[in-house]
Amino acid sequence: MADHHEVLVIGGGNAGISLAARLRRYKVADIGLIEPRTTHYFQPLFSHIGGGAARMGEATREQARVMPRGIEWIRGEAADIRPEENAVLLADGRRIGYGQLVVCPGLQKDWDGIPGLAGAMASAQVTSNYDPAMPEKTWGLVRSLRSGTAIFTQPPGPATCVDVGQKIAYMACDYWREYGVLRDIRVVLVVPTPTVFGIEDVDAVLRAKIAEYGIELHTSTSLAGVDAARRTVTLAGPDGTRELSFDLLHVVPPQSAPDWLKGTPLPAAGDASGFVEVDPESLRHRRYANVWSLGDAAATLNYKSGGALRKQVKVLARNLAAVARGSEPRERYNHYGVCPIALTRHTLLFAEFDHQYRPMPTVPWMDLAKERRWAWVLDRWIFPQVYWRLILKGRA
Ligand SMILES: Cc1cc2nc3c(=O)[nH]c(=O)nc-3n(C[C@H](O)[C@H](O)[C@H](O)COP(=O)(O)OP(=O)(O)OC[C@H]3O[C@@H](n4cnc5c(N)ncnc54)[C@H](O)[C@@H]3O)c2cc1C
Repeated sequence: MADHHEVLVIGGGNAGISLAARLRRYKVADIGLIEPRTTHYFQPLFSHIGGGAARMGEATREQARVMPRGIEWIRGEAADIRPEENAVLLADGRRIGYGQLVVCPGLQKDWDGIPGLAGAMASAQVTSNYDPAMPEKTWGLVRSLRSGTAIFTQPPGPATCVDVGQKIAYMACDYWREYGVLRDIRVVLVVPTPTVFGIEDVDAVLRAKIAEYGIELHTSTSLAGVDAARRTVTLAGPDGTRELSFDLLHVVPPQSAPDWLKGTPLPAAGDASGFVEVDPESLRHRRYANVWSLGDAAATLNYKSGGALRKQVKVLARNLAAVARGSEPRERYNHYGVCPIALTRHTLLFAEFDHQYRPMPTVPWMDLAKERRWAWVLDRWIFPQVYWRLILKGRA
């Protein structure tokens, strides 16, 4: 195994694989990719699995099957980055040198960030589609609940596609309505923001849906504690804290950059979130010219999601290929973000917006922020195929 690569990528998730494949298409040679997992996940399908509309097998592939040809897979875990020495240290003690480094290890889920949450995840009534082991548990809980209280929470702070917490709430309500039990279930949706989403047009559609399902919405509120034994949560809101009991709890956990990354010189001084300090448009590190970052681990300004990342991959790949040829990196990422929100188990809306939550529609003459059947078909059936066949091959 080589101990130096012209381009070294940390993380073989959505960002790392699609970027490495695209760099190969741009004739960049000698790429090494560090990735510890043997299973690759298409995470957007986790919501559909939790809502009973997809199977886990559709969201997983062996990592070996998605590794682009001509790239050396370094099976291991990055533990430190020494940008002054152009080297990455692995947890097993290996040291790999690089010419250019791309850092994309995704986010860390901070299950310990809320008192009682980490322990509660093992209990029968608590679940999260953010743990690859749990989307099927979510569906089991949704399917078996006939009465009681179901609570869905979203955390404040950075998170990947944070509104997934709502997606599963609406899908569950649709299922309970279809089976005639929705009126016997108290559904509570907890969001940290002052409105349910943050874009007026999207808020209007979601408010209507919330009213239709009879959901109790708590804005500017977050989960402050879980007592699994008593089946209660503590919610912290504008009027202080309060306890609620539950029969089903779906949690989007607090998230941050991985701890090991926070300890490297790559985050900005004083930035406790620990994300890689890049120029949010060129995606090049602000202090180390041969370091780049994209995806969930980069300190970009956009809403973190696979849809945003798809645009970043093209920009970073072109910029890095230009630098490798000795040219200036000229491509700029426009802060595009997207969030698909399922409203039922067969309809969905796409919220497309920039870093300031201003609408940024891909198709200007068609408002995608409306409930549509074809949007569901796109998200549930077409996008997974596009992901496996085109995005991971650096072709979309
Ligand atoms: C439940 C859920 C639903 C989502 N739904 C949507 C959606 O509907 N639409 C949408 O656009 N986006 C959605 N997203 C967001 C989307 O999946 C992410 O934005 C995207 O996967 C980020 O890609 P990434 O490569 O930065 O991180 P990831 O895809 O998480 O990949 C990070 C990779 O780095 C590896 N890694 C971690 N630590 C190390 C280390 N120390 N050394 C080496 N490798 C390491 C990991 O094993 C992993 O393979 C969802 C996310 C989740 C969790």
